[in-house]
Amino acid sequence: MLGKVLSCAVYGLEASLVSVEVDLASGLPLFAVVGLPDAAVKESKDRVRAAVKNSGFSFPVKKITVNLAPADLKKEGSAFDLPMAVAILAAEGVVPGSSGGPLPLQETLIIGELSLDGAIRGVRGALPIAAAAKRLGLKGVILPEENSEEAAVVDGIAVYGVSTLPQVVELLAGRAALAPTRVEVDAWLGRGAEVEEDFSDVKGQEQAKRALEVSAAGGHHLLMIGPPGSGKTMLAQRLPTILPELAFDEAIETTTIHSVAGSLRPQQPLVGLRPFRSPHHTVSDAGMIGGGQVPRPGEVSLAHHGVLFLDELPEFRRNVLEVLRQPLESGAVTISRATASLSFPARFMLVAAMNPCPCGFFTDPQRACRCTPPQIQRYRSKISGPLLDRIDVQIEVPAVPVRDLSADRSQESSAEIRARVLNARAIQRRRYRADGISCNAELSPRLVRKYCRVDDASRRLLELAMERLGLSARAYGRILKVARTIADLEGRDAIAASDVAEAIAYRSFDRGLGERGLGERRLEGTTRYGALRRDSRPALNRLLI
Ligand SMILES: [Zn+2]
Repeated sequence: MLGKVLSCAVYGLEASLVSVEVDLASGLPLFAVVGLPDAAVKESKDRVRAAVKNSGFSFPVKKITVNLAPADLKKEGSAFDLPMAVAILAAEGVVPGSSGGPLPLQETLIIGELSLDGAIRGVRGALPIAAAAKRLGLKGVILPEENSEEAAVVDGIAVYGVSTLPQVVELLAGRAALAPTRVEVDAWLGRGAEVEEDFSDVKGQEQAKRALEVSAAGGHHLLMIGPPGSGKTMLAQRLPTILPELAFDEAIETTTIHSVAGSLRPQQPLVGLRPFRSPHHTVSDAGMIGGGQVPRPGEVSLAHHGVLFLDELPEFRRNVLEVLRQPLESGAVTISRATASLSFPARFMLVAAMNPCPCGFFTDPQRACRCTPPQIQRYRSKISGPLLDRIDVQIEVPAVPVRDLSADRSQESSAEIRARVLNARAIQRRRYRADGISCNAELSPRLVRKYCRVDDASRRLLELAMERLGLSARAYGRILKVARTIADLEGRDAIAASDVAEAIAYRSFDRGLGERGLGERRLEGTTRYGALRRDSRPALNRLLI
């Protein structure tokens, strides 16, 4: 006797059809699973047997062979428990091969993990699985109740969330009155229980807030340098609240990644807000870019369309920072395995934070820094040039003066800031329609020459900055892109010298914290970082007049 159930294996972000075939033959009782299963699939034999028995069905005392086809597809996990149990019950005739109900066995995709008592537990990748069922032209999907909402985001396929094995049997026999899951996808866009933050919570730090607004407006990666307790994390957490809301197709992409990673909350159909990920600095390179035998997305992909926050940047392992280069360049990561290589999208805004020195107080006016220049140099050199090169906006976040913290001034809300960001983004989208990019951060050197023209006053200012502040040639293009964003925030077509001056101020690391700057300041007899900026301001201003 033969039973056959359709199921799915998820590889990367794609789900492929797996056929679960069961043959029952007379002979010595035996339960064999073939078709390249990994250890977890073998373990599922015990769970399937117990779940079938404890659900009140008899387990066949026969020679049972389960085949998961195609054999060359790598399968893992416990998600084949439920299809195996149903196939065994179908071979026994308990589940009818074809029923009068709305859900014939041959046209239904089934997935789920069983517990010993026959209850059904959640699986990963329900969203791509439902999408595959629709693509294959099936009638419906039966999957764990806790995953039914994310699967029901896929339009045009009936999704049934189930919680026990007997419920599945009733459903397939056409005896259960279970309605397909429905979700109001639009209601979930822009909604999320986890984010309550707002920029109005942040007292003081006006310059840092302005820099975050500029970053959000142009899609620029950001580095914040400041002593512990200056509010860098608080600021970073609020960046998603001023970015444009997720569009529907962006939300689907991000949700698919979180579905495969198994990081959606039960009953959460959609990632409706831009994700904010802040991996600890002990994260491995596999944790960062993704990995595993059947690869799963890493932090860079979980942050897709959102923000990746790396606090204590110099503390991350060098190889972990190295692997960031690929996603920063291409917006995706490729993971190679012996069988195949697969790729996950990873387009995020990078926000990094660091102390100015190992002890943290180099820039603090109240507390003395105990670090020696070589210690400070070593600390800063941990951040490689290529990574730093991709960060357009680098700012100082000073310790907040007590009077700012206690000030009861009304602070601007995230919604007000976001309105300006949206305007600037709309201008960029219109301007770059023919260029295949969407924001200033993506400008190539050729496009910088085309769109970031400056007048003579700005050019002199830039030359002065390069010379006096010791900026690198690469910093030149970065400054022009950021100046373009600042002009866009004002709705101005031409870049003004004041835009360039502000953009120059966003090169803190290059300017004041590079090796040269450090040495120079020591020679000048000051250890106060920021002194250089104050010194150079009159010069910049003279040029502006
Ligand atoms: Zn220090």
